[in-house]
Order: sequence, then C-alpha cells, then structure tokens
Amino acid sequence: MNIPSNDPSLRSWIRTPKDSDFPIQNIPFGIASWNGEPPVPATRIGDTVIDLSILADVGLLDDLGLPREAFLAPQLNDLMVHGKQATRALRQRLSELFQEDNATVRDDNALREDALLPLDQVTLHLPVQVGDYTDFYSSREHATNVGSMFRDPANALLPNWLHLPVGYHGRASSLIPSGIPIHRPMGQTRPDTQAAPVFGPTKQLDLELEVGFFTFDGKPLGQRISTAETDDHIFGLVLFNDWSARDIQSWEYVPLGPFLAKNFASSMSAWVVTLDALEPFRIPGPVQDPEPLTYLRTAQPGAFDIHLEAALAPEGSAPSTICKSNFKYLYWSMAQQLAHHTVNGCNVRCGDLMASGTISGPTPDSYGSMLELTWRGTKPLTLSNGEERKFIADGDTVILRGHAEKDGVRIGFGILSTKVLPAIPFA
Ligand code: CA
Repeated sequence: MNIPSNDPSLRSWIRTPKDSDFPIQNIPFGIASWNGEPPVPATRIGDTVIDLSILADVGLLDDLGLPREAFLAPQLNDLMVHGKQATRALRQRLSELFQEDNATVRDDNALREDALLPLDQVTLHLPVQVGDYTDFYSSREHATNVGSMFRDPANALLPNWLHLPVGYHGRASSLIPSGIPIHRPMGQTRPDTQAAPVFGPTKQLDLELEVGFFTFDGKPLGQRISTAETDDHIFGLVLFNDWSARDIQSWEYVPLGPFLAKNFASSMSAWVVTLDALEPFRIPGPVQDPEPLTYLRTAQPGAFDIHLEAALAPEGSAPSTICKSNFKYLYWSMAQQLAHHTVNGCNVRCGDLMASGTISGPTPDSYGSMLELTWRGTKPLTLSNGEERKFIADGDTVILRGHAEKDGVRIGFGILSTKVLPAIPFA
C-alpha cells in the first residue's frame, strides 16, 4: 500500500487496453453524466469511467480534506478550491483503490456496478467552470512563422518577445468540451485592402494546437506568485484548440489585438491530467537567450515532453494527420507564464485557464495551425482522400491528441474532437 501513484510498476484490476492514454498512473479528473443523471466528478482508467460521487457516498474518500458535497458538483472547481494537497491526496487514494491487489471496490459487486461505467455510455462535460481565460503566445517557432508571414522574415519576432511571455485576455463564456460542434463564424473582413470591408462567413477558419492549464486559487490581489511557487497553483492540463478566423483577425486586430476572430469558441479535452501525473516527463525547455529578467528565472526544468498531433477528417472520410508537434518546444514555460501573469499583482483564481498559444515545432510538419502548415494558403495540404485544404472546411472534424511516454507508462489526454458546421445564416 501507499505506492506512489506515478510508480511505473503499478497495475490496476480494471482492464487497460495497450496504448491507452489512461493507465492507473494517470488518474485524470473530469465531469461525467449518464442515464440522465446530473453531471458529477469522475476519473478514468482504460475505457472505464469511475463515478467519484458514489465512492464519496460510501465514505471511501473521507479524511482527504474534501467535503462530500464537492463530489456532487457539476464542475471540478469545488474540489480544486481545496488546493493541491487535497487533490493530490485524492489522486493517491484513487490509485490505491484501483491497484490490482486492493479488494475494496474490486470484490464489492454492488459498489463496482454503481461506480464503474463503460466510456461509451457516458457523456463528458466541460471539466472546470472557467472564470478567466488567458491565451499566451509562447512558441518561438509559431511567433516567428507568423511574424515572417505578416511582417518581415528578418525581424520576425517583435522586440519584446524574447523578454516576456506575450499574452492576452481571452473569453471564458465560449469554452466548450470535446464533441460539441461549432458553427463557422461570420464577421467583417477586408479581402481587398483598397476597397471597403465585406461581411460574411470566414473563409480562413483555423485551428490552434495548444495545451492549457487550470489554476488553483492564487494569492490575494496585489501579491505575486514566484516561479518557485507556481507548481503549487497549477492543477492540471488539457488539450486546447483555440479556434481562429484569420481573415477576420487580420482586419480587426489593430490596435488592441484579437477579438471576434477568437472569441466564438475554444475547445478543450474532457480529462484534466494533473501536473503531478506529468511530473515524470519534465525536461529542460529551449535555451533562453537573452537570459530572462530575474523574476522569470526558474530553478527547475520547465518543459514537459508531450507528443501532440492534429488530424483533420472531412465529412465521411478518415482522418489525416496534419501536424506532429510537442509541448517541449514551448519557449516560455507554464511557471514563467504564471509568474509573469501575476508579477504586477494580478490575482488568479481557482478555475482560471491559461493556454500556451499555438505550439509549433521546428519543421514544416510540426506547425500547429493551418495558417502555418499551408503558409497562409499558398501551399495547400493534400488529405488522404485526395481533397486539398488551405483552411478548415464545413463538415471537417478537427481532432487533437497528446500523450507522454516513458518507462513503459503512457500518460495521455484522450481525444479533443470538434466538428465544423456551416455558418448560421441571418433569418
Ligand atoms: Ca491562441
């Protein structure tokens, strides 16, 4: 007993398919419902979803510093508000309950049938009620590609980029979980720079391959979180697709930045993979030159080796992989992002979301957006069914996946899948 939850030798009595993103070493958190019941907190091992409200109800999650009511809430915030030590203890308890030699749930037929459900019978919901959503711009390759395309390849990065994690405040109300389709947004564009703007469905709908993290409560307004303290304030990570309308964006963004080109929807994967579960995959990030200012320096490595990929499935066709990237390419780490975000005294709250910005790698097949993959539409992609794409078409489904793997343990996020429906016409 009390084997650490990340131990590679752990096995569960719940069957876990080979290459599953969800071995017993993962223990992610999500919000699930079934049979018309209200959504409740859940975890997942293999393709089995575990209802935490049932385990709490029979007292198996008592003594962790988490009230039973928190296990009946339709979002994880009620658990997260108790902080890292409590959620860490919960993950450890769940690990112990489902280890192969633990009979508590395994040999209790009634409890097992109540608490365990097959994934395909479950509806997954937005895991966290997000108060504030911030989007960074922390991939050097992405910022370089965009700067090269829209400004000057010789001076692709703006003067501030290597000195601070550039970001902006996004919109929380339009965050959606995997599986919820979006409609192509309409808006103003100016395709002819000598003519008046026009209105209509975006012609340049794009994905952005990102990873987001959720915060626990930060500090009171006016106090900052140092890079040494950030881990205590980070709950876990999700895959994140920050949908973008490039033609709307290029017309509207001056001088205050993205607005309607971004706020119509951003999609996230359903399972929050804890920072604790990803700890074995921590590695040094890119060398930072010039050395950041003191408040952005970190004592421990800040990157995580997480393979990321994007695929595009036209209506009725199989998915084609269009991008393979890695979270490790991110120039500015989560610790630096959070330290920078709060250095002026800005407070973060339980359930805030910080997204990485598009994560592009060094090679053209590792770019995390269609904008870069097709170089602004000049190099269309050919999909496996023979169709070409410059941007995302109606009927396309965009699928993001991500996983880390080491010592025979694979920790992943599952799938983030979003279908694009046609624009809604004016009545
Ligand atoms: Ca973004």
